[in-house]
Amino acid sequence: QAKSAGRNRLCFFDPATQAAMAERALLEAELRRAVDLQQLELHCQPQVARDGRLMGGELLMRWRHAERGFISPAQFIPLAEQTGLIAPLGEWALQQCCAWLSRWTEDPALAPLTLAVNLSALQLRQKGFLGLMQQQLARSGVPAGRLKIELTESALLEDTEAVIGLMAQLRALGLQFSLDDFGTGYSSLAYLKRLPLTQLKIDQSFVRDLLEEPNARAIARAIIQMGDSLGLEVIAEGVETRAQRDLLAEQGCHAFQGWFYGRPMPIADFEALARTWSGKV
Ligand code: C2E
Ligand code: MG
Ligand code: MG
Ligand code: MG
Repeated sequence: QAKSAGRNRLCFFDPATQAAMAERALLEAELRRAVDLQQLELHCQPQVARDGRLMGGELLMRWRHAERGFISPAQFIPLAEQTGLIAPLGEWALQQCCAWLSRWTEDPALAPLTLAVNLSALQLRQKGFLGLMQQQLARSGVPAGRLKIELTESALLEDTEAVIGLMAQLRALGLQFSLDDFGTGYSSLAYLKRLPLTQLKIDQSFVRDLLEEPNARAIARAIIQMGDSLGLEVIAEGVETRAQRDLLAEQGCHAFQGWFYGRPMPIADFEALARTWSGKV
Protein backbone atom coordinates (compact mmCIF):
# COMPACT_ATOMS: atom_id res chain seq x y z
CA GLN A 1 0.00 0.00 0.00
CA ALA A 2 2.85 2.36 0.89
CA LYS A 3 4.30 1.58 -2.49
CA SER A 4 1.20 2.58 -4.40
CA ALA A 5 0.85 5.74 -2.30
CA GLY A 6 4.44 6.53 -3.22
CA ARG A 7 3.68 6.05 -6.84
CA ASN A 8 0.75 8.43 -6.62
CA ARG A 9 2.99 10.98 -5.00
CA LEU A 10 5.43 10.71 -7.86
CA CYS A 11 2.59 11.40 -10.24
CA PHE A 12 1.69 14.42 -8.20
CA PHE A 13 5.07 16.06 -8.71
CA ASP A 14 5.28 15.25 -12.38
CA PRO A 15 6.17 18.58 -14.08
CA ALA A 16 3.46 18.23 -16.70
CA THR A 17 0.87 17.59 -13.99
CA GLN A 18 2.18 20.51 -12.02
CA ALA A 19 1.93 22.80 -15.03
CA ALA A 20 -1.60 21.62 -15.64
CA MET A 21 -2.47 22.30 -12.01
CA ALA A 22 -1.02 25.79 -12.15
CA GLU A 23 -2.93 26.41 -15.34
CA ARG A 24 -6.11 25.22 -13.71
CA ALA A 25 -5.57 27.39 -10.64
CA LEU A 26 -5.08 30.43 -12.87
CA LEU A 27 -8.20 29.66 -14.87
CA GLU A 28 -10.14 29.20 -11.64
CA ALA A 29 -9.02 32.58 -10.32
CA GLU A 30 -10.01 34.17 -13.61
CA LEU A 31 -13.36 32.46 -13.73
CA ARG A 32 -13.99 33.75 -10.22
CA ARG A 33 -13.66 37.29 -11.54
CA ALA A 34 -15.39 36.68 -14.87
CA VAL A 35 -18.86 37.52 -13.59
CA ASP A 36 -17.76 40.88 -12.16
CA LEU A 37 -15.77 41.65 -15.28
CA GLN A 38 -18.84 40.86 -17.37
CA GLN A 39 -16.89 38.35 -19.41
CA LEU A 40 -19.75 35.89 -19.34
CA GLU A 41 -22.45 36.07 -21.91
CA LEU A 42 -25.50 34.04 -22.70
CA HIS A 43 -26.22 33.21 -26.28
CA CYS A 44 -29.55 31.90 -27.46
CA GLN A 45 -30.31 29.15 -29.96
CA PRO A 46 -33.74 28.82 -31.62
CA GLN A 47 -36.04 25.89 -30.90
CA VAL A 48 -38.54 25.23 -33.66
CA ALA A 49 -41.75 23.20 -33.72
CA ARG A 50 -42.52 20.71 -36.47
CA ASP A 51 -44.95 23.17 -38.07
CA GLY A 52 -42.20 25.78 -38.34
CA ARG A 53 -43.29 27.89 -35.38
CA LEU A 54 -40.53 29.39 -33.26
CA MET A 55 -41.14 28.01 -29.76
CA GLY A 56 -38.30 29.74 -27.97
CA GLY A 57 -34.63 29.30 -27.36
CA GLU A 58 -31.95 27.74 -25.21
CA LEU A 59 -29.45 29.89 -23.35
CA LEU A 60 -25.86 28.73 -23.71
CA MET A 61 -23.10 30.31 -21.70
CA ARG A 62 -19.99 31.83 -23.26
CA TRP A 63 -16.85 33.12 -21.62
CA ARG A 64 -15.01 35.81 -23.52
CA HIS A 65 -11.59 35.64 -21.95
CA ALA A 66 -9.40 38.73 -22.34
CA GLU A 67 -6.34 36.87 -23.66
CA ARG A 68 -7.53 33.41 -24.58
CA GLY A 69 -10.59 34.50 -26.49
CA PHE A 70 -13.68 32.37 -26.36
CA ILE A 71 -13.65 29.49 -23.87
CA SER A 72 -16.27 26.77 -24.35
CA PRO A 73 -18.69 25.92 -21.56
CA ALA A 74 -17.62 22.31 -22.05
CA GLN A 75 -14.33 23.46 -20.52
CA PHE A 76 -15.33 25.91 -17.85
CA ILE A 77 -18.60 24.42 -16.57
CA PRO A 78 -16.84 21.31 -15.20
CA LEU A 79 -14.22 23.60 -13.60
CA ALA A 80 -17.00 25.72 -12.13
CA GLU A 81 -18.63 22.60 -10.75
CA GLN A 82 -15.43 21.35 -9.15
CA THR A 83 -14.70 24.67 -7.50
CA GLY A 84 -18.18 25.65 -6.33
CA LEU A 85 -18.22 28.58 -8.76
CA ILE A 86 -21.18 27.00 -10.46
CA ALA A 87 -23.43 28.49 -7.78
CA PRO A 88 -22.82 32.16 -8.66
CA LEU A 89 -22.60 31.33 -12.39
CA GLY A 90 -25.86 29.43 -12.34
CA GLU A 91 -27.58 32.08 -10.29
CA TRP A 92 -26.44 34.73 -12.74
CA ALA A 93 -27.75 32.68 -15.69
CA LEU A 94 -31.12 32.22 -14.00
CA GLN A 95 -31.37 35.89 -13.19
CA GLN A 96 -30.51 36.80 -16.79
CA CYS A 97 -33.06 34.32 -18.09
CA CYS A 98 -35.80 35.89 -15.96
CA ALA A 99 -34.73 39.39 -16.97
CA TRP A 100 -35.00 38.59 -20.69
CA LEU A 101 -38.32 36.84 -20.27
CA SER A 102 -39.59 39.80 -18.31
CA ARG A 103 -38.60 42.13 -21.16
CA TRP A 104 -40.34 39.86 -23.61
CA THR A 105 -43.72 40.03 -21.87
CA GLU A 106 -44.13 43.52 -23.40
CA ASP A 107 -43.63 42.37 -26.98
CA PRO A 108 -46.28 40.31 -28.80
CA ALA A 109 -43.66 38.57 -30.98
CA LEU A 110 -41.62 37.52 -27.97
CA ALA A 111 -44.15 37.04 -25.17
CA PRO A 112 -45.21 33.50 -26.19
CA LEU A 113 -41.63 32.22 -26.36
CA THR A 114 -39.99 29.99 -23.77
CA LEU A 115 -36.41 30.26 -22.62
CA ALA A 116 -34.46 27.21 -21.51
CA VAL A 117 -31.55 27.44 -19.14
CA ASN A 118 -29.06 24.66 -18.34
CA LEU A 119 -28.70 23.93 -14.65
CA SER A 120 -26.07 21.81 -12.98
CA ALA A 121 -27.06 19.09 -10.60
CA LEU A 122 -24.99 20.81 -7.93
CA GLN A 123 -26.98 23.97 -8.25
CA LEU A 124 -30.30 22.23 -8.06
CA ARG A 125 -29.21 20.39 -4.93
CA GLN A 126 -28.00 23.54 -3.29
CA LYS A 127 -29.84 24.56 -0.15
CA GLY A 128 -32.42 27.21 -0.80
CA PHE A 129 -32.75 26.67 -4.53
CA LEU A 130 -36.54 26.61 -4.39
CA GLY A 131 -36.55 29.90 -2.51
CA LEU A 132 -34.12 31.42 -4.96
CA MET A 133 -36.31 30.40 -7.86
CA GLN A 134 -39.44 31.78 -6.22
CA GLN A 135 -37.66 35.03 -5.50
CA GLN A 136 -36.42 35.37 -9.09
CA LEU A 137 -39.88 34.71 -10.49
CA ALA A 138 -41.53 37.16 -8.13
CA ARG A 139 -38.97 39.87 -8.75
CA SER A 140 -39.14 39.58 -12.53
CA GLY A 141 -42.89 39.00 -12.77
CA VAL A 142 -42.25 36.31 -15.36
CA PRO A 143 -44.91 33.63 -15.91
CA ALA A 144 -43.17 30.49 -14.65
CA GLY A 145 -44.36 28.45 -17.62
CA ARG A 146 -42.06 30.41 -19.94
CA LEU A 147 -39.01 29.15 -18.09
CA LYS A 148 -37.59 25.76 -18.89
CA ILE A 149 -34.85 24.08 -16.91
CA GLU A 150 -32.57 21.64 -18.74
CA LEU A 151 -31.07 18.90 -16.63
CA THR A 152 -28.90 15.97 -17.60
CA GLU A 153 -29.37 12.51 -16.20
CA SER A 154 -26.28 12.95 -14.08
CA ALA A 155 -28.30 15.51 -12.10
CA LEU A 156 -30.38 12.63 -10.86
CA LEU A 157 -27.66 10.21 -9.84
CA GLU A 158 -27.23 11.59 -6.33
CA ASP A 159 -29.96 12.44 -3.82
CA THR A 160 -32.43 11.24 -6.39
CA GLU A 161 -35.44 11.33 -4.09
CA ALA A 162 -34.69 14.85 -2.92
CA VAL A 163 -34.16 16.06 -6.48
CA ILE A 164 -37.42 14.52 -7.66
CA GLY A 165 -39.20 16.17 -4.74
CA LEU A 166 -37.71 19.54 -5.56
CA MET A 167 -38.57 19.17 -9.23
CA ALA A 168 -42.16 18.45 -8.28
CA GLN A 169 -42.28 21.64 -6.22
CA LEU A 170 -40.84 23.65 -9.09
CA ARG A 171 -43.29 22.06 -11.50
CA ALA A 172 -46.07 23.11 -9.15
CA LEU A 173 -44.87 26.70 -9.58
CA GLY A 174 -45.29 26.16 -13.33
CA LEU A 175 -41.70 25.68 -14.42
CA GLN A 176 -40.94 23.25 -17.23
CA PHE A 177 -38.24 20.59 -17.20
CA SER A 178 -36.30 19.13 -20.09
CA LEU A 179 -34.05 16.07 -19.81
CA ASP A 180 -30.96 17.03 -21.82
CA ASP A 181 -28.61 14.69 -23.71
CA PHE A 182 -31.17 11.96 -23.37
CA GLY A 183 -29.91 8.49 -24.19
CA THR A 184 -26.34 9.03 -23.05
CA GLY A 185 -26.82 8.55 -19.30
CA TYR A 186 -27.30 5.46 -17.21
CA SER A 187 -30.39 5.59 -15.12
CA SER A 188 -32.82 7.07 -17.55
CA LEU A 189 -35.48 4.42 -17.85
CA ALA A 190 -35.70 3.66 -14.16
CA TYR A 191 -36.44 7.26 -13.27
CA LEU A 192 -38.14 8.45 -16.38
CA LYS A 193 -41.63 7.58 -15.29
CA ARG A 194 -41.17 9.29 -11.94
CA LEU A 195 -39.64 12.54 -13.11
CA PRO A 196 -41.96 15.52 -13.50
CA LEU A 197 -40.61 16.34 -16.96
CA THR A 198 -42.22 18.23 -19.80
CA GLN A 199 -39.63 17.54 -22.50
CA LEU A 200 -37.08 14.96 -23.61
CA LYS A 201 -34.11 16.14 -25.60
CA ILE A 202 -32.59 13.56 -27.95
CA ASP A 203 -28.83 13.79 -27.68
CA GLN A 204 -27.04 15.18 -30.68
CA SER A 205 -24.88 12.06 -31.07
CA PHE A 206 -27.94 10.15 -32.30
CA VAL A 207 -28.95 12.98 -34.60
CA ARG A 208 -25.45 13.21 -36.05
CA ASP A 209 -25.42 9.55 -37.07
CA LEU A 210 -29.05 9.41 -38.09
CA LEU A 211 -28.62 9.11 -41.83
CA GLU A 212 -25.62 6.80 -41.81
CA GLU A 213 -26.42 4.45 -38.95
CA PRO A 214 -29.58 2.40 -38.75
CA ASN A 215 -28.91 1.93 -35.03
CA ALA A 216 -28.93 5.66 -34.33
CA ARG A 217 -32.12 5.91 -36.34
CA ALA A 218 -33.71 3.12 -34.34
CA ILE A 219 -32.73 4.73 -31.05
CA ALA A 220 -34.07 8.10 -32.12
CA ARG A 221 -37.34 6.51 -33.12
CA ALA A 222 -37.57 4.63 -29.83
CA ILE A 223 -36.96 7.80 -27.81
CA ILE A 224 -39.59 9.68 -29.79
CA GLN A 225 -42.16 6.93 -29.32
CA MET A 226 -41.42 6.55 -25.65
CA GLY A 227 -41.53 10.29 -24.99
CA ASP A 228 -44.73 10.56 -26.93
CA SER A 229 -46.37 7.75 -24.93
CA LEU A 230 -45.30 9.42 -21.71
CA GLY A 231 -46.94 12.65 -22.82
CA LEU A 232 -43.63 14.46 -23.17
CA GLU A 233 -42.56 16.84 -25.88
CA VAL A 234 -39.59 15.43 -27.76
CA ILE A 235 -37.00 17.79 -29.18
CA ALA A 236 -33.90 16.80 -31.15
CA GLU A 237 -30.68 18.75 -30.66
CA GLY A 238 -27.80 19.12 -33.07
CA VAL A 239 -30.00 19.16 -36.18
CA GLU A 240 -27.69 20.43 -38.89
CA THR A 241 -29.36 19.42 -42.14
CA ARG A 242 -32.77 19.33 -43.72
CA ALA A 243 -32.38 15.60 -44.24
CA GLN A 244 -31.94 15.06 -40.50
CA ARG A 245 -34.87 17.31 -39.73
CA ASP A 246 -37.13 15.57 -42.23
CA LEU A 247 -36.23 12.09 -41.02
CA LEU A 248 -36.88 13.07 -37.40
CA ALA A 249 -40.15 14.75 -38.37
CA GLU A 250 -41.19 11.59 -40.18
CA GLN A 251 -40.48 9.63 -37.01
CA GLY A 252 -42.80 11.94 -35.11
CA CYS A 253 -40.32 14.26 -33.41
CA HIS A 254 -42.11 17.37 -32.14
CA ALA A 255 -39.37 19.98 -32.24
CA PHE A 256 -35.86 20.71 -33.42
CA GLN A 257 -32.81 22.69 -32.46
CA GLY A 258 -29.53 23.00 -34.30
CA TRP A 259 -27.51 24.81 -36.89
CA PHE A 260 -30.11 24.03 -39.56
CA TYR A 261 -32.34 26.59 -37.82
CA GLY A 262 -29.70 28.79 -36.31
CA ARG A 263 -26.50 28.84 -34.29
CA PRO A 264 -26.43 30.13 -30.74
CA MET A 265 -26.47 33.93 -31.12
CA PRO A 266 -26.40 37.06 -28.97
CA ILE A 267 -29.83 37.49 -27.41
CA ALA A 268 -30.43 40.80 -29.18
CA ASP A 269 -29.99 38.93 -32.48
CA PHE A 270 -32.37 36.26 -31.31
CA GLU A 271 -34.97 38.93 -30.53
CA ALA A 272 -34.58 40.37 -34.02
CA LEU A 273 -34.93 36.90 -35.51
CA ALA A 274 -38.08 36.24 -33.49
CA ARG A 275 -39.67 39.48 -34.63
CA THR A 276 -39.20 38.59 -38.29
CA TRP A 277 -39.83 34.85 -37.98
CA SER A 278 -42.45 33.70 -40.42
CA GLY A 279 -42.14 29.97 -39.97
CA LYS A 280 -39.42 27.66 -41.12
CA VAL A 281 -40.09 24.03 -41.86
P1 C2E B 1 -26.08 21.18 -24.17
O1 C2E B 1 -27.00 21.87 -23.23
O2 C2E B 1 -26.43 19.78 -24.54
O3 C2E B 1 -26.00 22.12 -25.44
C1 C2E B 1 -25.86 21.68 -26.75
C2 C2E B 1 -24.52 22.00 -27.33
O4 C2E B 1 -24.52 21.71 -28.71
C3 C2E B 1 -24.12 23.48 -27.25
O5 C2E B 1 -22.71 23.53 -27.05
C4 C2E B 1 -24.50 24.01 -28.62
O6 C2E B 1 -23.79 25.16 -29.01
C5 C2E B 1 -24.14 22.84 -29.48
N1 C2E B 1 -24.92 22.80 -30.73
C6 C2E B 1 -26.13 23.36 -30.96
N2 C2E B 1 -26.56 23.06 -32.20
C7 C2E B 1 -25.60 22.30 -32.77
C8 C2E B 1 -25.49 21.66 -34.07
O7 C2E B 1 -26.36 21.74 -34.94
N3 C2E B 1 -24.35 20.92 -34.28
C9 C2E B 1 -23.37 20.80 -33.32
N4 C2E B 1 -22.31 20.06 -33.63
N5 C2E B 1 -23.47 21.37 -32.10
C10 C2E B 1 -24.57 22.11 -31.84
P2 C2E B 1 -22.06 24.56 -26.04
O8 C2E B 1 -22.74 25.88 -26.19
O9 C2E B 1 -20.59 24.49 -26.25
O10 C2E B 1 -22.44 23.99 -24.63
C11 C2E B 1 -21.92 22.77 -24.17
C12 C2E B 1 -22.57 22.30 -22.91
O11 C2E B 1 -22.23 23.18 -21.82
C13 C2E B 1 -24.09 22.32 -22.96
O12 C2E B 1 -24.57 21.16 -23.59
C14 C2E B 1 -24.44 22.38 -21.48
O13 C2E B 1 -24.42 21.09 -20.93
C15 C2E B 1 -23.31 23.18 -20.90
N6 C2E B 1 -23.76 24.55 -20.66
C16 C2E B 1 -23.89 25.58 -21.52
N7 C2E B 1 -24.35 26.68 -20.91
C17 C2E B 1 -24.54 26.35 -19.62
C18 C2E B 1 -25.02 27.07 -18.46
O14 C2E B 1 -25.42 28.24 -18.51
N8 C2E B 1 -25.05 26.37 -17.27
C19 C2E B 1 -24.66 25.07 -17.19
N9 C2E B 1 -24.71 24.45 -15.99
N10 C2E B 1 -24.22 24.37 -18.24
C20 C2E B 1 -24.16 25.01 -19.45
MG1 MG C 1 -28.92 22.00 -22.94
MG1 MG D 1 -27.72 18.49 -24.94
MG1 MG E 1 -24.49 18.36 -23.74
